[in-house]
Amino acid sequence: MTSEVAQLLEFLRFPSISTDTRFAGDVRACGEWLVEKSREIGLSAELHETPRHPVVIARNEHRPGRKHVLIYGHYDVQPVDPLNLWTSDPFQPEIRDGRIWARGATDNKGQMFAHLMGVAQTMATHGDLPVNLTFLFEGEEEIGSPHLAAFLENHREWLACDVIAVSDTGMVAPGVPTMGYGLRGITCGELVVRGPARDLHSGLFGGAVMNPATALGRLIASLHDAEGKVLIDGFYDDVRPLEAWEREMWAQVPGVGEADFLQVTGAPALFGEAGYSPAEQTWARPTAEVNGMGGGYQGEGSKTVLPAEAMAKFSFRLVPDQDPADIIEKVRRHFEKHCPPGVTIEFVPGHDGKAYHADPHGVFGKAAQRALQKAFGKEPVLIREGGSIPIIQSFREILGADTLLLGLALADAQIHSPNENFPVENFEAGIRLNQALLEELAAS
Ligand SMILES: [Zn+2]
Repeated sequence: MTSEVAQLLEFLRFPSISTDTRFAGDVRACGEWLVEKSREIGLSAELHETPRHPVVIARNEHRPGRKHVLIYGHYDVQPVDPLNLWTSDPFQPEIRDGRIWARGATDNKGQMFAHLMGVAQTMATHGDLPVNLTFLFEGEEEIGSPHLAAFLENHREWLACDVIAVSDTGMVAPGVPTMGYGLRGITCGELVVRGPARDLHSGLFGGAVMNPATALGRLIASLHDAEGKVLIDGFYDDVRPLEAWEREMWAQVPGVGEADFLQVTGAPALFGEAGYSPAEQTWARPTAEVNGMGGGYQGEGSKTVLPAEAMAKFSFRLVPDQDPADIIEKVRRHFEKHCPPGVTIEFVPGHDGKAYHADPHGVFGKAAQRALQKAFGKEPVLIREGGSIPIIQSFREILGADTLLLGLALADAQIHSPNENFPVENFEAGIRLNQALLEELAAS
């Protein structure tokens, strides 16, 4: 076992579960350990308090005339239950079949620690780094980063940087270096459909009043055409079209073809907006989804009732350049316009976040691609992601810098699940990646 792997195992022993207050002391101890580790390798490091779990900042000596690179990671982890499904203890890391098995192995301790160990090696060899570096390690990512934006605001000048790197996303397949340059945004809402003053007997009144569950069904059905296209007026107005090179590259990306989606989802067939591949549908096209619905009798047997109300929860994944506030307003108008007679509706908007997109062919994007090529010995693929990482947008808005998404996670890493794991070779590739990245960014 290399010394780097041994140190990672030590890091993984902290049960730094951020959501559970019983582990608050462990989260802090883990942050303190990171501060010590950063100092040991020659960085200056401090714990910064937030109302809950501390942020760790570690920096080399900053000199004028060099690029300022910020590397973000998080040292908190998800809870471990159900514990009985783990092959080995989540906080007693084990190495089996070339993988490290522990909670946080991939998400995010293994990935962020690869960067720290890359810096450690460069510092040991050269006594300094080719760039001004700031590590920002958060202890609240798994609870939605409630205090990170305020922390960035309060240290805006100190943290202002040229570019940000984050390894907290996926690789499309083992050994295939992957750079992400886009994330979808989101906006959510909840719809309540109300009809009669109380639940009614379906024999005495059925046929004479509109059933709110039926009305809800009609409203949900009005969102798409039979081919999966969203029918909300103006929904696609601001959607940035896919570029030719994206369609060409994504068609070659392993692991995201129709057969892969069928296998991963277990769905009997795929269904989505016509004219787009599954990768295009999930990375670059917006959606309207029902996340849950309810109303009326749901118990055993039958109850001949006409429910007084019905409800559904919706989320809309957004792409550049859709504006969440504009879209949720269009959704509200759509429901009002299509509301059947005999019921009233109330639509309550939920949380939202903008989509993220950075030019992968910019100076830093190209430098990152050269670094990925060096670390993995293979041409990287450029992808967008279907999910949302709101802090990436905060980085851009508050620190004014774009983020390079250099994920090292495999699809079967079991993040947030029992038996989370991280291949030792990915950890080692991450160390090489960090070294190549800082060199390439410095030279760019
Ligand atoms: Zn996570």
